[in-house]
Amino acid sequence: MQVSDIRESERLTSLDSYDILDTPPEEAFDRITRLARHIFDVPMSTISLIDGHRQWFKSRQGFDACETSRDSALCNFTIRETAPLIIPDALADPRFRDHPAVVGDPHVRFYAGAQLRAPGGHAIGTLCAFDAQPRDVSAAEVAMLQDLAGIVLSELELRALVMQDSLTGALSRRALRDEATRGITLAVRHGHSFSVIMFDLDHFKAINDNNGHDIGDRVLAACVKACQNLLRKADAIGRVGGEEFAIVLPHTNRADAQLVAEKVREAIAGVTVMGADGPLRVSASLGIATLERTASDIDELLRRADAAMYEAKQTGRNRCIAWRTPEVAADLMRRVFKAGHITFNAGHSTIDCTVRGLSEMGASIDVFSTTDIPERFKLSIPVDHLSRACHVLGKREKHLDVVFD
Ligand code: GH3
Ligand code: MG
Ligand code: MG
Repeated sequence: MQVSDIRESERLTSLDSYDILDTPPEEAFDRITRLARHIFDVPMSTISLIDGHRQWFKSRQGFDACETSRDSALCNFTIRETAPLIIPDALADPRFRDHPAVVGDPHVRFYAGAQLRAPGGHAIGTLCAFDAQPRDVSAAEVAMLQDLAGIVLSELELRALVMQDSLTGALSRRALRDEATRGITLAVRHGHSFSVIMFDLDHFKAINDNNGHDIGDRVLAACVKACQNLLRKADAIGRVGGEEFAIVLPHTNRADAQLVAEKVREAIAGVTVMGADGPLRVSASLGIATLERTASDIDELLRRADAAMYEAKQTGRNRCIAWRTPEVAADLMRRVFKAGHITFNAGHSTIDCTVRGLSEMGASIDVFSTTDIPERFKLSIPVDHLSRACHVLGKREKHLDVVFD
């Protein structure tokens, strides 16, 4: 395995830990891109995060798209550099004059990008300022850009450190992990049982799309409230993603955890929030995992609960499934977060992708656009040494489900 593949895989894990992709714009970040624009006196500035297959903007000024493909991103170049990337005139620079962002929209001539470097050293994205006109920069301006990039990273860190999610009152992801780790240590020491439930609201995107984000927020808060009403004092619920939650249950064996999960499912199905066209109902898919010899830390428990939840989604939603050994669920998809490549046209065309689900039988993939992708192609995941011919089973806007040939 190449060192660069391992680093890229670690970089994606680092990006994932901030839980920032696809979250709404926030003033704290917009303030920074506005400042960056002023410093360089240019029309455009973005905070760009480099996912496996795309660059996604947490904040953007003077720029419409909320994401672009990864290979058309100058910032994808910047994250591989050790120092800020400064391009006074892209047309005069042989490295960039044919770059998609230079020859096409937004026709970049001047670019200044500073890396957003996580504490582990990985550049998860950039803060950049750019213009369709060439421009020279001073060392002082570059230093300011670097300082602002440092502030972006601090903001991201602060969000991850906050103990409680302000919208729902659930614990933050980190706080939940800490709580679970303490609980597991005690359970192992005293021989108690311990379980974890993970759940994800079903078709939540449609709730937002049909009723607006504010009502979506209210649904999230109402679901957490419904859970808190039925959980015991020693239990804890945390928000581990946008509309994804985990519950830790000390002193709870597998059978009892299944009963709790069923109560949670019913409570969520009973939540009503006033929507745009009358009362709204939601449901959730739940996965359950229990502490045992082969699963004795929080990462493994969450991984199992997540896999079971994924199965609950695949088998119809609004249901609870407890994790089963892989022999029982041989072709169960594992949720992963890996960079991959789609190759077709006799090896002449390659497109970056992010693999989100993987099993013995196939994969679930995010791409920037499915438009040019044929029905059959080769999928490779460098970090796993995987390279498989596959064909498309299902296509959604930016998503492909494939089976291996
Ligand atoms: P599935 O049943 O497969 O889970 O479908 P889904 O629509 O729930 O899944 P998807 O992951 O496509 O959509 C999740 C949506 O949750 C997309 C995102 O905009 C929304 N979301 C994430 N965080 C928040 C939030 O804080 N507030 C609101 N209103 N929506 C959020
Ligand atoms: Mg969902
Ligand atoms: Mg989700």
